Amino acid sequence: MAPNIRERTYIMVKPDGVDRGLIGEITARFEKRGFKLIAAKLISPSRQHLEKHYEDLREKPFFPGLITYMLSGPVFAMVWEGLDAVKTGRVMLGATNPLQSGPGTIRGDYALAVGRNICHGSDSVENAEKEIALWFPNDLVQYSRSHEAMVY
Ligand code: ADP
Ligand code: MG
Repeated sequence: MAPNIRERTYIMVKPDGVDRGLIGEITARFEKRGFKLIAAKLISPSRQHLEKHYEDLREKPFFPGLITYMLSGPVFAMVWEGLDAVKTGRVMLGATNPLQSGPGTIRGDYALAVGRNICHGSDSVENAEKEIALWFPNDLVQYSRSHEAMVY
């Protein structure tokens, strides 16, 4: 299959990342890597919205604590576009559990506990599409960046 240079992923700085002043750091990593920002907003989502975002985890024992954590402050929601955005985004975030996330990854550099792991990234193209529709139903921006043609 031809590589999709327009693949999109949903990346979110969680409340602890916002509280710790890591919006710029996390955004800069995606920007410098070569991904294109096509939507971003600071938002205080409702409980219902967060339960929808994490609906696949509803039966997990940590689900109530996860929702309380995610309601503890605003989040910074973003959509990034580029080659293999979903998989590469996950690599840049690092493993879910910071015990397993290597140095050089966002979680590996800034997080100590799975329950406070500062960022979210879509885990599949299908889930990325769902998450983007949930968080940005109608405000994605289309433009090109001058280096795109050279990169690909
Ligand atoms: P990821 O965010 O890496 O996609 P999951 O989708 O499995 O990971 O879980 C969603 C989020 O739920 C995690 O990022 C983390 O904040 C929280 N979480 C996952 N597992 C645990 C756990 N065992 N205890 C507490 N929180 C957890
Ligand atoms: Mg997940």
